Amino acid sequence: MNNAMLLEIEDLEVSFDGFKAIDGLNFYVERHELRVVIGPNGAGKTTLLDLICGKTRATGGRITFNNRELTRLAEHRIVQAGVGRKFQTPSVYENLTVYQNLELSSPGARSVLSSLFFRRTPELRSRIDEIARTIYLSDQLTISAGLLSHGQKQWLEIGMLLIQDPQLLMLDEPVAGMSVPEREATAALLNRIRENRAVIVIEHDMDFVKEIGRKVTVLHQGRIIAEGPVEKVAADERVIEVYLGH
Ligand code: ADP
Repeated sequence: MNNAMLLEIEDLEVSFDGFKAIDGLNFYVERHELRVVIGPNGAGKTTLLDLICGKTRATGGRITFNNRELTRLAEHRIVQAGVGRKFQTPSVYENLTVYQNLELSSPGARSVLSSLFFRRTPELRSRIDEIARTIYLSDQLTISAGLLSHGQKQWLEIGMLLIQDPQLLMLDEPVAGMSVPEREATAALLNRIRENRAVIVIEHDMDFVKEIGRKVTVLHQGRIIAEGPVEKVAADERVIEVYLGH
């Protein structure tokens, strides 16, 4: 067991009716790492994140997180273990303010019922202020989330995960539909988040992958075909072939 590693995936396999969507995958993520996962449609990227967060069950192999095996844990236990996942479409509470969205996502207020009895502490207030600064929404705290731009909603959702203090954040195409300035701000945001936790990003937008400028894993047919710095991977013959073939 290597202690620098937060996530260790060994020989991971999942079959859907005999079709191997993930086929003997070995994948390792360090504690303060921002990893980008790319690959053509159907490569297995979403399935990999589904397996890590327990939405899909592996048919073989092991997933270890913080030296603890996740492979057969229930989804809510995986969240409690420190894994946060954001899906592609933003799901914020449109009628609530940005502040309330963050407040309701904090660990003490997971359900509406418990939030009725939820004590607003100065610590929570300062944590929300700090997260709002991180996600560029300090000036929007009192407005309804429904009035935010698409990009700002994506950031709010990242904030709603950050308030739960996960050690690993998994994001599925976080810049889809964003403007160029929003995309650049998101690259900076993810690099800042990485200073305290690990981030795995599924991405299609190669400009964004280059802006992030971190280690890239390329999936194809449920296997890793290349892994390394973005410049190296982008020049890899196999990767070029797989992308041109689609
Ligand atoms: P990507 O995210 O890289 O586009 P996916 O992980 O969504 O790829 O899908 C990988 C492969 O697994 C695809 O061929 C897809 O059709 C298949 N697949 C994914 N989930 C299921 C499922 N629940 N049942 C059957 N096949 C699935």
